[in-house]
Amino acid sequence: KTDFADRLAIRLGLAAPPPAVHALDAVDLEVRKGEVVGLVGESGCGKSTLGRVIAGMLPPTSGHVEHDGKDIAQLRGKAARDMRLATQIIFQDPMSSLNPRKRVREIIGEAPRVHGLVPRGGTRKLVEDLLARVGLDPAMADRYPHQFSGGQRQRIGIARALAVNPDFLICDESIAALDVSIQAQVINLFMQLRAELGLTLLFISHDLSVVRHISDRVVIMYLGRVVEEASTDAIFDTPRHPYTEALLHEIPRLDRRARSFSPVKGEIPSPVNPPSGCHFHPRCPFAMEICATTRPPLLDVAAGHRAACHLNGGQGRLPLETQTQTQ
Ligand code: SF4
Ligand code: MG
Repeated sequence: KTDFADRLAIRLGLAAPPPAVHALDAVDLEVRKGEVVGLVGESGCGKSTLGRVIAGMLPPTSGHVEHDGKDIAQLRGKAARDMRLATQIIFQDPMSSLNPRKRVREIIGEAPRVHGLVPRGGTRKLVEDLLARVGLDPAMADRYPHQFSGGQRQRIGIARALAVNPDFLICDESIAALDVSIQAQVINLFMQLRAELGLTLLFISHDLSVVRHISDRVVIMYLGRVVEEASTDAIFDTPRHPYTEALLHEIPRLDRRARSFSPVKGEIPSPVNPPSGCHFHPRCPFAMEICATTRPPLLDVAAGHRAACHLNGGQGRLPLETQTQTQ
């Protein structure tokens, strides 16, 4: 955190995709070099928008994104191109992002060739090395996307992202469409790539259990706001926001202690007209009068742990945790 050049910082106000939906509301997020951050929330909470803003695909209406200490919107020419290449997004549906008429060799080799990142004649070897790196047989390079399974296509998408030598990968629901057993394999691949290449990862998912084993830190979003942010262990062991607690409750785990709390009730409200005060108050079993009128600030509740809930205001522990926690 002391090395300014070693982090990506996002200070955003309202990023407003049409029509005037305030998808992100004063999000302040930092991803440190080499770190894996899980970004979790229900669909419509703004996490994909945040991913696109961070990648420079969508400009924020206010605020800015810094990468290695530089505001990405201020970059021009080669510096702008290098920054775009340094951040790659991997989307959910590999089929829709892979051109069905192109062979895998062209799909993976195109960007490095166009941007002159490989010496003349070097694309072939690069593609085959990348296929091997993501666990696919290099001999499959001349096939078309439809000749692969869903999991293999996601590996192709990952190889294509790696082809431009990024340092930061944003995985937006990258494994959500895959079978559970295949999901585990692709997560393992991401963990292996992180170790081998020193990648920084932002792992966006609606499913808290998916980010658990890959993330160092977890950020929980609700209707465009960050409501909790902590180390993965702290999120799972000592959550400090009722919404996080509710998401945890939805994960079936035999070894988890019984929780005095029920899963999230009700529909997620529309982001077009979010509830006043704490956005979560209509669904929160702990809602108090103040919750409907006043937005809870995102406060430090422990070292490296922030939460936005009025229950944390005073002595700062959620009542649900004080009853059950003994260690
Ligand atoms: Fe629930 Fe109030 Fe905390 Fe919001 S601020 S999560 S409504 S207790
Ligand atoms: Mg999404």
